[in-house]
Amino acid sequence: MMRAGLTRLVNAYRWRQRFYGQAWKTRRYPRVLITAPVWALLMKRVTIIWSTTISIRVNQHGWGRPPGGRWHRTFPLIVLLLVGCSSPTAPTPPVVVTPPVVVAPPVVAPPVVTPNPLLSDPRFSLSFYRQFVRNVYEEPRNLQPLRRQTEAPRIYLRTIDEAGAAIDVNTLNQTAAAIEQTAGQLTGVFGVAGIDRGTSTREGQRGWITVRWASESSAYCGFAVYGGDVMTLYPKTPGCRCTGGPAVRLKTVRHELGHVLGFYHTDSPTDLMFQGGSACDINPSARELFHARIAYSRPIGSLDP
Ligand SMILES: [Zn+2]
Repeated sequence: MMRAGLTRLVNAYRWRQRFYGQAWKTRRYPRVLITAPVWALLMKRVTIIWSTTISIRVNQHGWGRPPGGRWHRTFPLIVLLLVGCSSPTAPTPPVVVTPPVVVAPPVVAPPVVTPNPLLSDPRFSLSFYRQFVRNVYEEPRNLQPLRRQTEAPRIYLRTIDEAGAAIDVNTLNQTAAAIEQTAGQLTGVFGVAGIDRGTSTREGQRGWITVRWASESSAYCGFAVYGGDVMTLYPKTPGCRCTGGPAVRLKTVRHELGHVLGFYHTDSPTDLMFQGGSACDINPSARELFHARIAYSRPIGSLDP
């Protein structure tokens, strides 16, 4: 087909040369009348539905009869009536529109929230939880997020006070025992990893709680930072020692440890975390033990359960 088309084009060119010679190239001649149908046929883009041949004449100056001149040439003009833009022998294949592949987003299963059975326990009290864990008793307008130890802490019990004076062994033994017992009660999970004694310190070291002995009196018997890594006991402060007991009352030791473990003051003298009172020793109350278990089952920074 291509070869036949080329032959036709070459023949058409020779035919033009024969009739018009070099003048063909310089005259204004509507060559589109011939080349467009031929090209369209070659491209199979049209269908010939009627054709005929007429003769028109041109002169040396172009179309039409020159003033006073004469017709110069006569040539046949093939008139084609072309319609359509498609060929019946070469139908344009239908455009197949491939629908876009819709990739379904991965199904993300919602996290399985296991309800804490402690929250449905009748012993649970939101108001007490807020006192004990969120400091609502002392700062009702500034509730704190949960703070607590995240792993079993190691206790470093200093054997000298800040001035270097030795602490008696009875005080150290009772203090260590109280810390170990109360940490186990309040964390309910891991207790303490161990208790070391020495004249150094572990302040600032991750995983350690250092117990210091102040060498001067103050307004307190003890001081600690909530969820922190150090607690200070004040054996020189008057009234902090019970007769025959350790240098600082065990109630104070347990209470300050409660702060280090993340708990705040409560409103009942029967609680370990009640501030004040003259008891030589006291254990965490039942409600403190229960709500401490809830606190130690929840993530750091959480609010109300
Ligand atoms: Zn306190």
